[in-house]
Amino acid sequence: MAEKACKNCNRIVDGADECPVCKNNDLSNSWSGLVVIYDPESEIAEKLGIQTPGRYAIRVK
Ligand SMILES: [Zn+2]
Repeated sequence: MAEKACKNCNRIVDGADECPVCKNNDLSNSWSGLVVIYDPESEIAEKLGIQTPGRYAIRVK
């Protein structure tokens, strides 16, 4: 899997070594579930604690 997920905020990171949201470089190859957030004020974004639109993993190991 070429895409990695940030262990801190679950952001999917494609082709970079650093999370564009929280600047964390602790990324994981082992993640599952994918949610696309368009509206950070939506219920799902709030539930997941997401404040920046983008693609996020549901679970990151
Ligand atoms: Zn992050």
